[in-house]
Amino acid sequence: PGALAQPGRRILLAAPRGYCAGVDRAVDAVEKALAHYGAPIYVRKEIVHNKFVVETLTERGAIFVDETDEVPVGARVVFSAHGVSPAVHAQAAARDLSTIDATCPLVTKVHKEAVRFAGEDFDILLIGHDGHEEVEGTQGEAPEHIQVVNSPDEVDRVVVRDPEKVIWLSQTTLSVDETMETVRRLRERFPALQDPPSDDICYATQNRQVAVKRLAPGTDVVIVVGSANSSNSVRLVEVALESGAGAAYRVDTAAEIDPAWVDGAMTVGVTSGASVPEILVRDVITRLGELGIGEVEEVRTATEDIMFSLPKNLRADLKRAG
Ligand code: SF4
Repeated sequence: PGALAQPGRRILLAAPRGYCAGVDRAVDAVEKALAHYGAPIYVRKEIVHNKFVVETLTERGAIFVDETDEVPVGARVVFSAHGVSPAVHAQAAARDLSTIDATCPLVTKVHKEAVRFAGEDFDILLIGHDGHEEVEGTQGEAPEHIQVVNSPDEVDRVVVRDPEKVIWLSQTTLSVDETMETVRRLRERFPALQDPPSDDICYATQNRQVAVKRLAPGTDVVIVVGSANSSNSVRLVEVALESGAGAAYRVDTAAEIDPAWVDGAMTVGVTSGASVPEILVRDVITRLGELGIGEVEEVRTATEDIMFSLPKNLRADLKRAG
């Protein structure tokens, strides 16, 4: 990039950005399943919330469905990184489906917390977005004990059986600051409110927000690469604005960048959500180069080396095949 680059105009590129360990594993699971068992491989819901990833896997023979009853009896289905409720596992078993569970281990961790605290008869306040697949999956572990709190404003409406026995858990991809505000207000109402045993907002979500917070002040505009249904990507836009970016936009691809956004901009921040392949970020940088912003400076706030191994049964099948 940079044939037309104008001096002094630069891109601040957030690091970490893009793929997290859970997304990497989930996409890899579908790719390996396609290669090993052959197409078609059914996938319940978007494997990760990214349009490009879903389109690419569809071209290779993945068939995305909304529910397990759309999968032919006896076929193979992958569950997405966002997790599924026990009811979905039961439906799959009833249809005799071979399942590959690509639920991120960090989502599974939250499911286990939900099961444990429901077993101890706590009221569980699950901070998260109603209707998001991850929230549906987690809530499905103990629907009688879990209520969803969408935002700080909803705190006043929460009703619990015993204010001495309340715990909060959360979706993995929320804004850290907004979640803490919700917790603060919940604790005002329920001073005995317990915290989760460890952070539910995952390392990748936190790291991407910290990086954006660092680079946003002083930028004229921040461009976040990610799909509209990607919770953590949408949060990055909010965090950029709250942290002082002059403006912030989310795009699926470079083609969506409106040149007017960067007209006259001297400093443009770029980052991407946890479900976004790096190639899409490269395309954005190339496009910004065409628009006269060619110099790239990385702003790194953490280094990530977490990796998750493939789902167990897939790993076993691959191993048997040598
Ligand atoms: Fe797992 Fe976090 Fe990635 Fe979600 S964003 S898949 S919880 S690592």
